[in-house]
Amino acid sequence: MSGELINGKQLAQEKRDEMKAEVEALKNQEGVTPGLAVILVGDHPASHSYVKGKVKDCKEVGIHSELKTLPDTVDEQTLLDEIDKYNNDDAIDGILVQLPLPEHISEDKVIDAINPEKDVDGFHPVSVGKMLLGKETFYSCTPAGIIEMVKSKQIPIEGSHVVIVGRSHIVGKPAGMLFLQNNATVTYCHSRTKDMSAITKQADILVVAVGQAQLIGPEDIKDDAVVIDVGMNRNEEGKLVGDVNFEAVKEKASYITPVPGGVGPMTRTMLLHNTIKSARNWRE
Ligand code: NDP
Repeated sequence: MSGELINGKQLAQEKRDEMKAEVEALKNQEGVTPGLAVILVGDHPASHSYVKGKVKDCKEVGIHSELKTLPDTVDEQTLLDEIDKYNNDDAIDGILVQLPLPEHISEDKVIDAINPEKDVDGFHPVSVGKMLLGKETFYSCTPAGIIEMVKSKQIPIEGSHVVIVGRSHIVGKPAGMLFLQNNATVTYCHSRTKDMSAITKQADILVVAVGQAQLIGPEDIKDDAVVIDVGMNRNEEGKLVGDVNFEAVKEKASYITPVPGGVGPMTRTMLLHNTIKSARNWRE
């Protein structure tokens, strides 16, 4: 029997439809329009398309968005000044600086410069620290989207063994933290892990966030595992593929996310969720 698809594209559309109604109500009842500022530095083609998608999503649900583009030669201080303008702009509830940044600009400094109250990407150390402590904050979008996807299928998290492959600050680590908060038992794997397959095979829920096509095959999972594929890679034909051998693994998994149409659309949608949440926070 083949595993059931967790359709991130469809779930994200459902969420955006709900948010549209929420934003409409916020406008009508409280006169509040949530606002997102997106800052793009340079001409990275993938970044361009991500940013375009984010602005389009805002439009769809009625969020005000402002796109600030800066050349890749911009100096660090100018970028920090732009962030500060948005920190002090009442029409803006969320600030997102599209990563990666040119090498001469410190990502850490830039993330630190965002007011944590407007940190809708959830990358600021204050947001990450609060998340670790289980306090109210902005959860970073990909991990939050993953939890939503698992919950959408009523898959039990409590007591289950969740194995996360990848330990980046923006995906792997926070994803593990969120599963732990939901009472899972969490194991991390990374590039130095020995005999990784023996560990991934123990997973009730396997989250793969590495960036290597075909890293995980059917021999790496147990029967009926839930498989969440975060990876985004281009194969030889230029097609977007995940880190999991989808066709083979889906035969063995109970649930699986596709690439494209899985984690990606949910990540985008959680950004809107955080922006609306911020708009509410500011006005309380
Ligand atoms: P990073 O490159 O920051 O991290 C990759 C992680 O994978 C590291 O922790 C690294 O280990 C680990 N790793 C590398 N090789 C192996 C290996 N052979 N076995 C086990 N672990 C390994 O990537 P990101 O977390 O930023 O992104 C991961 C993937 O997810 C990428 O394809 C990215 O494009 C995609 N992505 C998708 C998103 C979406 O919305 N769908 C959002 C964000 C990312 P170590 O720490 O030891 O180096």
